[in-house]
Amino acid sequence: MQKSPISKINLDGRDFYVKRDDLIDPFLAGNKYRKLYTLLKTPKEKYNKIISYGGTQSNAMLAIAAMCKEKKWKFTYYTKPLSTLQKEHKEGNFFHAITLGMQHVEIKEEYYKEYISSLRVTMDEKSYLIDQGGADKSAKEGLEVLATEIREANLKLKSLATPSGTGTTALYLALALPEYKIYTTPCVGNVAYLKEQMNALHVIPDNLIILETTKKYHFAKLYPEFLEIYKKTLRSGVEFDLLYAPNLWKVLLEQTNEEILYIHSGGVTGNASMLKRYKKKFESQKIVKTK
Ligand SMILES: *Cc1c(COP(=O)(O)O)cnc(C)c1O
Repeated sequence: MQKSPISKINLDGRDFYVKRDDLIDPFLAGNKYRKLYTLLKTPKEKYNKIISYGGTQSNAMLAIAAMCKEKKWKFTYYTKPLSTLQKEHKEGNFFHAITLGMQHVEIKEEYYKEYISSLRVTMDEKSYLIDQGGADKSAKEGLEVLATEIREANLKLKSLATPSGTGTTALYLALALPEYKIYTTPCVGNVAYLKEQMNALHVIPDNLIILETTKKYHFAKLYPEFLEIYKKTLRSGVEFDLLYAPNLWKVLLEQTNEEILYIHSGGVTGNASMLKRYKKKFESQKIVKTK
């Protein structure tokens, strides 16, 4: 288990520090590495199979696939039906996960919900089920390790930031570091939904601050301002993901002014396919963009 380094970047004349969890491993990185930490430390013999389900471009799926390869565990991943085009893609998280040995099972839309809820009932004691997004109490330990690394870095700042899907990462980080302020923003649903997800795991502590973008953004949709932020951070020397990071950078740049350590949550492997979508969508609108 290795520690991740810290980089310093400058955005809009402001200095930010970045905890480079993206550098831990090409596939098993970011907060998915932290969230899978307990399983990674579990003796190989305890399980022979990991089961999970969700989206086919999921960063969690790819991280689990990489973990299972390392642990020599079988990995079965359930999704709704995929298009032939998606299956034939030679890049992106799905392609990499299949290459790492993931067994993919498609469940028809009309049976999906019922099938997923039956998984826990039908599995044996050598199997472990990871719920979508990895919103699991077992994530606590890995985030405590991250908290220790942050404390040991001894930076002279009091604010951290990390983007939220389920909010598991931000919540456990805030609980493990009560002396820091933890900024986050919901990237998947709204604030109410994020709080509900967090509250299912633990009471939300006072040092966790949920900021909100003024404009409403939909997850995995394309926005020119997101691509701008992506390019700006890339120019500053660090590549961030195109799904979660743009929301957070937007609120941090607009609504905060102190020195902040941004916890890189990984996900850059998904950028190739996102950038392709951006290119396709906005290439025809160049006239609008350069006006
Ligand atoms: C999964 C993921 C998140 C969200 O993490 P949660 O713990 O579900 O809030 C944020 N950023 C990236 C890049 C992710 O892959």
